Amino acid sequence: MSQNPNSGPSPVYEDYTRCIHCGLCLNACPTYRLWNLEADSPRGRIQQMFRVFQGESSGQSQPEARFSQGFVDHINKCLDCRACETACPSGVEYGKLVEHARARIERRYERSWIAQVARNFFFRDFLSASHFIEDAARVFRLYQRSGIQAVARGIGILKLFGLAERDRLLPQIDGDFFFNRFGSTFAPVGPRRARVAFFAGCIANVTFSRLNEATIRVLTANGCEVVVPKEQSCCGALSAHAGFRDAARGFARKNLEAFQLHDFDAIVTNAAGCGSTMKEYDHLFSTHELEHAQARAFAAKTRDVAEFLADLGLTAKLGSLRLRVTYQDSCHLLHGQKIREAPRKLLRGIPDLDFVELPHSEICCGSAGTYNVTQTETSLQLLAEKMRHAQSTGAETIATANPGCILQLRAGVTLHHLNQNVLHVVELLDRAISGR
Ligand code: SF4
Ligand code: SF4
Repeated sequence: MSQNPNSGPSPVYEDYTRCIHCGLCLNACPTYRLWNLEADSPRGRIQQMFRVFQGESSGQSQPEARFSQGFVDHINKCLDCRACETACPSGVEYGKLVEHARARIERRYERSWIAQVARNFFFRDFLSASHFIEDAARVFRLYQRSGIQAVARGIGILKLFGLAERDRLLPQIDGDFFFNRFGSTFAPVGPRRARVAFFAGCIANVTFSRLNEATIRVLTANGCEVVVPKEQSCCGALSAHAGFRDAARGFARKNLEAFQLHDFDAIVTNAAGCGSTMKEYDHLFSTHELEHAQARAFAAKTRDVAEFLADLGLTAKLGSLRLRVTYQDSCHLLHGQKIREAPRKLLRGIPDLDFVELPHSEICCGSAGTYNVTQTETSLQLLAEKMRHAQSTGAETIATANPGCILQLRAGVTLHHLNQNVLHVVELLDRAISGR
């Protein structure tokens, strides 16, 4: 890795040439499966990124020179789902390469001033400040609950402006925000088996408060003391994936300070996308930077909630759930963290739950961070395929491991007029424990 003072280490020659062009990743790639285009395959994208790298290294391309629209489009159409990493026999770290390509695009691609201002605000300021998130949530809550949303849908104005699908993707805003629990400690039920810090996310604090509450109930029911550190911040995943690595480094620094590692057995998250980034915090810092060692220690303590519970073993008594459930792998749990069995093990452990595998569950549902907003059409194509497979299982409930996937799949249920319930794995555990 070479160094960049603002964005940390960058890929070097060997990171690109590790690709031996074997093509074993092609069929794993959602965009290649859709369009059959080499330029929208992992191999094709690596080649394009390598050419940019070579141009910069040889001095043929000036750092301030603009990128071609074609390059930007092919990189933007990538979901950063990392399914190609799982398939690759040569150990290509594709996620790193694409994040750095996006950081280069961010520096060298000319956007309209309004797009630049909006992106800077969202990826740097909005995600970093709970008051921005809470204010926006209150506005959306008013839109959803005052009847304006129903009227806008009813008279077709959203369709007229091409916003109908995006409106369906809007999360339901919570009545009570989870930010209110920051700084709290939750006692274990029975003897303490572990003391954990809970990472609560950013936007999830206004859209997934009930999931966060359920996660804490399941952890405490299984003997964990749970602390919600007060000064925690967004993990930085959305910013890193969009090319704002300097902002992601800022978020990581805040979290390195907020979580006193020696106090906890683990840092637990229920968001696979956040966990994947937090487990790679050390990739954001060069080895000579002070934060690097701290980031490695932080990464080593980070656990997805399913991974943590499956390792710890459940002690809470699980009641019966007579439900047929299928499971959609969240890309950043399966491909980012290589966790496949833990959520399945937990689901299969619930009495009377009929677990059925989802065909092609390893293929992205199209959520992919902000992809469903920036590449809505492709995202909806992937979602349609996903819902067709979910329907084929006959399951009443689709379980998954990431809030972003939950939103996407719920939108799929609505758009395709289906009736499945979409829940996080811990929400099913919570129901089994509480008997509700
Ligand atoms: S990250 Fe996903 S969409 Fe992007 S190239 Fe790899 S498999 Fe394809
Ligand atoms: S599987 Fe790996 S080595 Fe083979 S083409 Fe894809 S990225 Fe390159």
